[in-house]
Amino acid sequence: MRFSVSTRYDFRSGSQRAAAGRKQLVSSVPAHSYKLVLYCTDPAWVPSEPGLVEACLRDEGVIAERFEFEATTHYLCGERFLDAVMFLGCSPAVSLQPPIAFDSAEALDPSRFCNVRFRQHECVTMLAYEIHNLAPRCPSCRSNYDEWRALVAAWRDDPGSATWNCPSCAAAGAIEQLYWRHATAFGRFFVEIWAIHPHEAVPSERLLHALEDCSALPWDYCYTAS
Ligand SMILES: [Zn+2]
Repeated sequence: MRFSVSTRYDFRSGSQRAAAGRKQLVSSVPAHSYKLVLYCTDPAWVPSEPGLVEACLRDEGVIAERFEFEATTHYLCGERFLDAVMFLGCSPAVSLQPPIAFDSAEALDPSRFCNVRFRQHECVTMLAYEIHNLAPRCPSCRSNYDEWRALVAAWRDDPGSATWNCPSCAAAGAIEQLYWRHATAFGRFFVEIWAIHPHEAVPSERLLHALEDCSALPWDYCYTAS
C-alpha cells in the first residue's frame, strides 16, 4: 500500500496553500463547496471493478443522469435521493436540480445543487479537516486526543509510523481509527454528495449498508468544505 498527501485535501504548507489559492482564481468552483462524503472504513479500499459503486447507487435511486464539469463526471440526484440522504431540521432548503436551464456553464456549477461525484486517488488521502478543527477522540474511552496535529504531521512524513496511544486508557491504533467527529476521512475512494453543509444531512442506514455490500467492509461519512 502506498500513501501520499493530496495537495488539495490535506494539511498544506504555506506555499502549497498559496498555490491552491492561485488555482482557485481560475476555477469557477466557489472556495467553499460543502460536501457530505461517504467512505469505506478501510482506507486502502477501492472498487474491485469500475462502475461497481455507480451501479450500487443507481440501484438505490441515489443517482441519475451524468453531466460533466471541469473534466470530471457528476451525477444528478436520482428519484430516491431524499430517502438515502436524510436532511435534518424542520424545513431544509434542498436544491436537487441545477438552478437554471441545463445549458450554460453557470447552470452546471455543481456547488449550487445536490449531485454526486466519485473520487479515486492513487494513494491514501486525508480529506481537509477545516470545518470543526476539534481534537479527535479516542474510540475506546472517548477522551480527546490532543496531540492530533503532531500525529497528522507524522502521517504526512511517514504514514506507516503514524500511530497513536491514548494517554487516558492506553488504547492504540492507526490514525484513521481515531474518532474524527465526521470532520475528515482517510481513503482512496470517496463518494462526494455536493452542496450539503456540515450536519445538514446524514446518509441512511440502507445507503451505508448498500455500500458495505460493495466492499464487504463498513462505510462512514464526513463533511468537508473544499
Ligand atoms: Zn482512550
